Amino acid sequence: MKLKAHWQILLSLILATLMGLLFRSLGKEPGLAADFVNGVIATCEVVGTLFLNLLKMIIVPLVVSSVIAGITSLHGVKGFGRLLSKTAGFYALTSLLAICIGLALVNLIQPGLVDGAPNEDIRAAFESHEPTAAEQKKVAEAQVTGTEQQGLFDQLSGFFIRMIPTNVVSAASGGQMLGLIFFSLLFAITMTQLPLPKVSPLRDLFVALNEVMIKLTQGIMSLAPIGVYALIVPVVYATGGGLFLSLGKYFFTVLLALGLHMFVIMPIVIRVLAGVNPLDHFRAMRTALLTAFSTASSSATLPVTMRCVQENAGVSKGTASFTLPLGATVNMDGTALYECVAVIFVAQVMGFELSMAAQIMVVISALLTSVGVAGIPSASLVAIMIILTSTNIPGAETAIIALLAVDRLLDMSRTAVNVWGDSCCALVIAKSEGEKVLQN
Ligand code: ASP
Repeated sequence: MKLKAHWQILLSLILATLMGLLFRSLGKEPGLAADFVNGVIATCEVVGTLFLNLLKMIIVPLVVSSVIAGITSLHGVKGFGRLLSKTAGFYALTSLLAICIGLALVNLIQPGLVDGAPNEDIRAAFESHEPTAAEQKKVAEAQVTGTEQQGLFDQLSGFFIRMIPTNVVSAASGGQMLGLIFFSLLFAITMTQLPLPKVSPLRDLFVALNEVMIKLTQGIMSLAPIGVYALIVPVVYATGGGLFLSLGKYFFTVLLALGLHMFVIMPIVIRVLAGVNPLDHFRAMRTALLTAFSTASSSATLPVTMRCVQENAGVSKGTASFTLPLGATVNMDGTALYECVAVIFVAQVMGFELSMAAQIMVVISALLTSVGVAGIPSASLVAIMIILTSTNIPGAETAIIALLAVDRLLDMSRTAVNVWGDSCCALVIAKSEGEKVLQN
């Protein structure tokens, strides 16, 4: 009997964790065993990258074809305006909810303090952390992006400027999804304004292209157990160390806040707004959530998210292809929540008092910057740098590099929350449009 896709992925996650732990114990003793482990880890890294590349490879044609095929099936711009305002409203409100949960918990649990005073151990661990070459490179890249847009006005205007690309081909090749979605939307809307006989060959072309991309996604996902295994073994192998232990409370705060949003708040939201059983929706989204968790990239997960939402949750192509590509690009509940917790945690450790007004600024900045964060691993670093620069917390940079070293597990978790948030939106919007979703 063949195991279902999500069981296969889960199994490979467990096996990879065990293997990674085994390698950690083997790899420490120099000699043949360590050489073998290094060889296997290097191979896993290559195979994992190949799998991620396969998923990323199909994003551009998938997004373009599904947005165009989806919008042209919506019949006209009238429905589109309504859809846009509902989707934007849902995304903004749920991200704000997520940030508020993070804000409340980080102030309640105070992971950066011990008996009301800054935790000196963590501060010392931050200061003694030796950044690896890869970490330094990431931070340098984030600084370049971060300095361009610091103030709130710049963040907002930056969003609109990114939305309209001067060259759609370079937007596609540079992975600027927002620009690509905007162009595809305009293209599709213009198509609906022309007489059908004139545009029907074009529409058929995009519908067919979309079918091919969906089939291709299916093919790539049959490799998911191998891809996930290869991605997770090096992560488990590399993770660990003292910093992990001293950051336990911080981990707990982030994971608790993410868990609350994912397992309590959003289920209530879909129960109330879409009238569905949240467990059914979880079941429908299993494969996408596991893929998001394994890859730590909501962009790479997009093809799987679209498949699950349409095939398992029963959302129409029109609604899914509008809400999901946009969501994978601009809606990141988990990331927004994480940014808020990370910034306030660093302030606590550094003994920097953030006033009420300053915390509100952190909330607004987290909301705005999460929109601009790319759906790739550790992308929120850029956003956190931007917020930290504007709050002037001393020593924040060393802290953020140290956090980057232990970021992966939190990254995987917040990416799953990001994808879950997008799928909930698709469900609620579909329901509000009168579609029959899940068992209803
Ligand atoms: N990895 C996240 C995502 O792809 C972004 C982040 O928070 O770093 O959704």
